[in-house]
Amino acid sequence: MDLSRRDFTRIGAVSLAASLSPTLVAQSAPGRKIGYCIIGLGRISDLFMAGVQSSPNSRVVALVSGHPEKAARYAEKYGIPASSIYNYQNMDAIRSNPAIDAVYIGLPNSMHAEYTIRSARAGKHVLCEKPMATTVAEGEQMIATCRDANVKLMIAYRCHYETTHQRVVKLLRSGALGKINLIQSAFGFSCDGNDWRVKKALAGHGPLFDVGIYCLNACRYLTGEEPSQISAYAFSDPSDPRFTEVEESVTWTMKFPSGALASCATTFGGQMEGYFRVYTNRGWLEVSPAFGYDGLHLRAEYLPEGGPFTTLDEPNPEKSPYHFTLEANHFSTCVLENRTPKSPGEEGLRDMVYLTQILRSAGIPA
Ligand code: NAD
Repeated sequence: MDLSRRDFTRIGAVSLAASLSPTLVAQSAPGRKIGYCIIGLGRISDLFMAGVQSSPNSRVVALVSGHPEKAARYAEKYGIPASSIYNYQNMDAIRSNPAIDAVYIGLPNSMHAEYTIRSARAGKHVLCEKPMATTVAEGEQMIATCRDANVKLMIAYRCHYETTHQRVVKLLRSGALGKINLIQSAFGFSCDGNDWRVKKALAGHGPLFDVGIYCLNACRYLTGEEPSQISAYAFSDPSDPRFTEVEESVTWTMKFPSGALASCATTFGGQMEGYFRVYTNRGWLEVSPAFGYDGLHLRAEYLPEGGPFTTLDEPNPEKSPYHFTLEANHFSTCVLENRTPKSPGEEGLRDMVYLTQILRSAGIPA
């Protein structure tokens, strides 16, 4: 399936919108820490809060939860006063809490748009988990609302801020490995049947939106290009009750303008360690595992122009939650220094467009 003119128009339009974003008043002051309100206290928020604790420019100052006991536990852990604990009904009152500069949204996918929009209207910067939303239209609305409210929007693509991924991108851009011919990438796991991830109303779609997005996003930053052609297949075991609302497995191929091809796979049907492998005209490079919270491992063999033959074997010794510390550091710096995040809403929207194309190519209504 070729990407349509309409899709390119959307992407072009958001890039232009990004360049026209109104500037914010600089909020920098020596030693100032950006105060985060955490919306949704699930697994990822737990890691984010732990990551923030090690950040020199960020702190957790407020919580939004539907479970008062859980909120009280986290409030005690992070020294948050009872007056800064909200629920989903009264969270708009964050507007009048001056300790809150930004929110972090760790909710099921279908709730990202609503809570981004409510937070932006309350005058708070937004760091929203991936996938940005469940539809392109929601993503566009999130960007427009944040722009109109004069707040920053970043999508929590933690790998953009992670050191092994950054090293790989630098290495590929240096030209040492030559020209990318092919990329293989996969990420999946066996999803519990009670998880919101298999409920369409909360997840939007299945593994593609949850973990396949890592492969898609990686192919885009590894090549530094946008895919020009996409084709995909999907399969769901009809006898598996987990997959009545969302698909079980998706595979897709992308072609990039340089001619580079990418072959990706994702599933909720069984364990599939996240990795990518890049084949070039001078060798290969892989990160496996690539998408976990620690234990990333880079390996490569290549012959740069003029030599010598090079072998890399670099396990990353950093421990979780270092991804989240780096991510929080970046967003807080952007707020403090009035910079555009490296993964703004527009980056999330590009993925939304491609995710939608992948689903449609696989015959899944999107
Ligand atoms: P989770 O199930 O552990 O937590 C979800 C939270 O949302 C819970 O606190 C739950 O109480 C709350 N919630 C509010 N309304 C809910 C509802 N109607 N149904 C279910 N939960 C409701 O999920 P998670 O793994 O923390 O994922 C949250 C978001 O973070 C998702 O968008 C996911 O894609 C993303 N995520 C990102 C990463 C990453 O590495 N960046 C990793 C995991 C998840």
